[in-house]
Order: sequence, then structure tokens, then C-alpha cells
Amino acid sequence: MILALICLVVFTSVTIFAIRWVIAGLLQKEADALNVIKEQYDESLSIKTGLEGRKKVLETEVAQIFTLYDLTREMTKNFSEEKTFQTFKSKLAQNVNFKECVLLDPLAEENIDQKDPHGYLLLTLTGQRRKLGILALSGVAEDQKEKVAILANQFALALRRVRLYQDIERLAITDSLTEVHTRRYLMERFEEERNRAMAHKTKMSFLMIDVDHFKSYNDQHGHLTGDQILREIAGIIKAHIREIDIIGRYGGEEFCVVLPDTDHDGAGYVAERIRSAVQGATIKAYDTKTKATLSIGISVYPHDGKKVNELIDKADWALYRAKKEGRNRICAFGVYTK
Ligand code: GH3
Ligand code: MG
Ligand code: MG
Repeated sequence: MILALICLVVFTSVTIFAIRWVIAGLLQKEADALNVIKEQYDESLSIKTGLEGRKKVLETEVAQIFTLYDLTREMTKNFSEEKTFQTFKSKLAQNVNFKECVLLDPLAEENIDQKDPHGYLLLTLTGQRRKLGILALSGVAEDQKEKVAILANQFALALRRVRLYQDIERLAITDSLTEVHTRRYLMERFEEERNRAMAHKTKMSFLMIDVDHFKSYNDQHGHLTGDQILREIAGIIKAHIREIDIIGRYGGEEFCVVLPDTDHDGAGYVAERIRSAVQGATIKAYDTKTKATLSIGISVYPHDGKKVNELIDKADWALYRAKKEGRNRICAFGVYTK
């Protein structure tokens, strides 16, 4: 009986121990599995945090790219330097805090020197071959300077585009040899001025100018020197007309000048000023020094014609007469001195 009791107690104890042992084993397994899950969770959490950080960086980059895109789109809507700068300034103000923002000419050194010691942020805007300008900003926080530099770089590109456009526009209307206007541009402006004179019932004049015996310069000094002489003569004519007058190369060694708001007397006065200036000048071309004279024909709107072509023909006839009468002189259409 006692033995049976002992056996029961032992059996029960062994069974309890075995059950505990099995349960402990199961709990350990569960804990291990939980640990693995926790590690995986921690790992996922750190990946998530990393991704969130990356997302923020990407969002900032997208915002920056969009700002640049928006800035470029707005700045390239026009071909004026002033408007491009104003657009840049207003877009910059949306992104960065600053007190003052001015665009300085890189050649005006005294302006730059004035800004330099007063804590201005000075950014040099460069094109392919030249300095385009200097951007001077005040009141920019240290951590915003990089952003300003990036946006300023975009502004430099827009400014370069505007300057290129201006260069192309100037080249298209400028005669490459003499640097006066091309015939085509002159004719367009002539038509415009004629229309204006018609609308305002004012007079205007037209000069047809031809260099006397120009062929002899080529024969004597060669074409290259002839070219330089022609360039010099064009420069003298240009220096003796008003800002509002329009000079163009009609062809070869012939020039034309449109004189808005000018009657017979005024045209005669301008023509004489040009003629005597060329006659009085010593023209230097490479190692040659020479003299030149001009013959000039004048026609006046509306006296000699109402259409541009008529006025050109009449001035041409007057020029022909000036040549015939001995050159180095001025003839007005319809006015006979001989
Ligand atoms: P005139 O007093 O009658 O005007 O005599 P001219 O010799 O000036 O007139 P002509 O029309 O016989 O000759 C004009 C010359 O101008 C012929 C041409 O060789 C020269 N010429 C025209 N264009 C140019 C140019 O671009 N460069 C050079 N070097 N010569 C030119
Ligand atoms: Mg000629
Ligand atoms: Mg000639």
C-alpha cells in the first residue's frame, strides 16, 4: 500500500516535472519566436524610418526641381533683361528671405565695392565668354545661401538667353562690314517713318549718299584697305546724324539716311554737315592715310513723293545730278542751281 502510494507520488512528481519541462520548452520556443518577430519588427521599423527620411529628401528635391522649373518657365516668357530680373526677384522672394536684391554691371566696379563691405552676398553671373552681371543680396540667412546660389545660376542662364537674343537681333539688322543698318531694316524703318509723317502731317527727308570715285581706292590700295576706308566713312556719317535719324547701307559704297521730322532746309543742313565732315577727315585704313568725298542726293516727303519708292528714286536722281555736276556736292530733287 505504502509502496503503491510512494509509486503514485513519484509517478505524479515525474509527470508534473515532465509537464513543466515540456511547458518550459514550449514557452522558450515561443519566446525565441517572439524575439525573432521583434527583431524583424525592429528591422522593419528602422527601414521604415530610413524610407521616411529618404521620402523627405526626395520631396525636398522635387520641390527644388519644381521651383527651378517654375522659375525657368516664368523667366523665359520674355526677352527683356529688366522683366527677366523682376521675375527672378519675385520668384526668389517666394523661396528665400532677403532685404534687397540688385543686379550690378560687372564693369561698374565702384558700385560693387560699395556693396562689398556691407555684408552683401555677391554672386557673379557668368556666360560662356563674359561676366553677365553681379547679383548683390542683403539679409540672406547663412543656411539659405546655397539655395540662392542655385536659383541665381538659373537666372544667369535666362540672362544669357536674353543677351544672345539681343545679339542675334542686332546682327540681323546690322551690316557686318560697316556696322550701320542693313538695307532691309532701313527700308522697314523708312516705311514706318513715312507712315508716321503721313499720320502727323509732318515732313521728312531722305539722303542717298555715294562715295566719289570709290573704285580708285580699291585699285590703288586693294580691296581689304578699300573695305576699311568704307567702314571709316560709315563711322563719320553715323557720327554726324542725330540719334533719331536712321542710317543704312544701301549697297556697295552707297549709304542712305532717313531724317524724321526734317524739311528741305534741315536735310540740306545735315547733308552739308556729313559732306564737310568726310571731306575734312583724314581716313586711316591699316597703314594708309587718305582723303574722301561724298555726293549726296536729297528728296523730301511729301513734296517729292508720297511713297517710299518714289522718294528713293527722286533722291537717286538728285544724286546722279550731284555726280554729273562734279561730285563732292549736295543736290536736292527739283532744286536746280545750274
Ligand atoms: P562715282 O564717283 O561715280 O561713284 O565712282 P565710283 O568709283 O565710286 O563708282 P562705281 O559705281 O563705278 O564703283 C563703285 C565701286 O565701289 C566698285 C566697287 O569695287 C566698290 N565697292 C562697292 N562695295 C564695296 C565693298 O564692300 N568693299 C570694297 N572694297 N569696295 C566696294
Ligand atoms: Mg555707287
Ligand atoms: Mg561711288
